[in-house]
Amino acid sequence: MKIVVGHLFPDYLNIYADRGNIAVLERRAAWRGHELEVRPLGVGDEPRPGEHDLFYVGGGQDREQELIAPALAAMGGALREAVAAGAAALAVCGGYQLFGRFYRDQSGDELPGVGLLPLHTVAGDRRMIGDVLLECQLEPGRPRSLAGFENHAGRTYLDEGAEPLGRVLAGFGNDGESGYEGCRSGRVLGTYLHGPLLPRNPWLADWLLTQALAHRTGEEPVLEPLEDELEAEAHAVSADRARIRGGRY
Ligand code: GLN
Repeated sequence: MKIVVGHLFPDYLNIYADRGNIAVLERRAAWRGHELEVRPLGVGDEPRPGEHDLFYVGGGQDREQELIAPALAAMGGALREAVAAGAAALAVCGGYQLFGRFYRDQSGDELPGVGLLPLHTVAGDRRMIGDVLLECQLEPGRPRSLAGFENHAGRTYLDEGAEPLGRVLAGFGNDGESGYEGCRSGRVLGTYLHGPLLPRNPWLADWLLTQALAHRTGEEPVLEPLEDELEAEAHAVSADRARIRGGRY
């Protein structure tokens, strides 16, 4: 099966090993006999209905966010339609902020978001930097651990009733206060975690592949398990670091 990924603004939003996340999706798909084709989406592009199974947007600093926010927001209608038709998405850090309604930066300027996630973000004056550990339940009754690294000045506020990606066990999370990190709306996930995210949390890569394949075929596949020994070690190292030093200014 071919899985088509729309990589949003890869030339601008690409800090923190975002390409590594794509590489993990590509390998884990290939090990199950699926091909991942990554198509960049940039200024003036418009995703065609049904074309993409998964959208990916990475992190960037305020400067890059400012450069691409209007073009990304202009794609909002097509992206929202694609998601309503079952496409999945992962948005990391700066991309996560722009998946909400708006991002108000340090100077008070408001960058428009795409409105795929029920949230907004406001820049604060202290950066939240460090290792993070979360407990997620994307499938009810199956708690999973997610480990990563955060580095953001933006505080993200979820709308009343919005579903966070996970509960913060160590680290700052969305705003340093709510005790939650990230956001989930159906098959769309947003998170501050990077550094990189998917190599040390392979279950999340598989969840995304499953959603993307479900979009393509109309039914949820069961992915063959992989060994994941190195991945489990990477996760353990990262989780320990978060437990020891996550979430301190
Ligand atoms: N505007 C972002 C911030 O809050 C950028 C986050 C990122 O991708 N590093 O700092």
